[in-house]
Amino acid sequence: MTDLSKVLRAKLAEVAEIRLPKAVFDQQSVDGTRKWLLSLDGGNAIETVYIPEPNRGTLCISSQVGCALDCKFCSTAQQGFNRNLSVAEIIGQVWFAVQALADEERDRPVTNVVFMGMGEPLLNFNNVVAAANLMVDDEAYGLSKRRVTLSTSGVVPALYRLAEATDISLAVSLHAPNDELRERIVPLNRKFPIAELLPACRNYIAGKPHRKITWEYVMLDGVNDRDEHAKELAKLLEGIPSKINLIPFNPFPGAGFKRSSDERILRFARILQAAGYTTTTRRTRGDDIDGACGQLVGKVQERAKRRLRTEQQVQAERT
Ligand code: SAH
Repeated sequence: MTDLSKVLRAKLAEVAEIRLPKAVFDQQSVDGTRKWLLSLDGGNAIETVYIPEPNRGTLCISSQVGCALDCKFCSTAQQGFNRNLSVAEIIGQVWFAVQALADEERDRPVTNVVFMGMGEPLLNFNNVVAAANLMVDDEAYGLSKRRVTLSTSGVVPALYRLAEATDISLAVSLHAPNDELRERIVPLNRKFPIAELLPACRNYIAGKPHRKITWEYVMLDGVNDRDEHAKELAKLLEGIPSKINLIPFNPFPGAGFKRSSDERILRFARILQAAGYTTTTRRTRGDDIDGACGQLVGKVQERAKRRLRTEQQVQAERT
């Protein structure tokens, strides 16, 4: 890089390195979905999933090794939390995928990025925001800010900060229409109940025309999938520019939940659509390679005590 000064080049050689992440596993599903296990310094590994569709290619990336939250239907939760990913490790997943897919017959293999892999992105705020801003920077990957989506369980104070720091799309893992039910499946709701969460989400899109919040709703048989839940949800979101994405539950060993039937999901969607909400059902992709939502496990060398870490992380958010 001769356009940089000698002094800067010498400094960079000292403090920085350019190193592509290494895949230790590479699996391909019958539906074309790819899943890579990328090794990290320190012996950990994370999973990154690529989902090709006719008009786009979505990369689902991780933000942490493991996860400190304890969502009852998520297999990443079961392995506990180890550490945050660095900016390099987050953007490195995009770099890796673009390189790995270079010989595919696609102009731009990665058009969309979703922070829906392992971890809670808002509990690794600074690194996630820096990496997301690189993805949308024209000097870097130049993705549309509407095509980079952060998915969160709802860390309320961080949502307010996010509105100041970036303009990417927001998906929120709601999964229940009331606190009583949400607390049971997303324990973070005890810290940040729905009445605090919704104003923070409204604030995120305030003043941004045509922006909507995507509400994610995992369909758990007999738990949150009744007609009444759909009606309650429709009422709850009244007045918020919304899209609702129903996710058929993806099972994993020891999960203790079942996926709602297709008919149930369809009925649930119809109720929401009749109430005026754009409602889609996520097609399950890559489940033959355990690459579907909530199935990413990676490899955690030393599992931290989850409860303690959650307390510390959420406490740090409060202050
Ligand atoms: N921590 C972030 C990102 C998590 S993964 C968040 O909570 O949003 C992205 C989505 O997959 C979330 O909506 C999450 O609730 C959902 N998910 C987790 N486990 C799942 C499973 N077993 N089946 C279907 N969806 C699941």
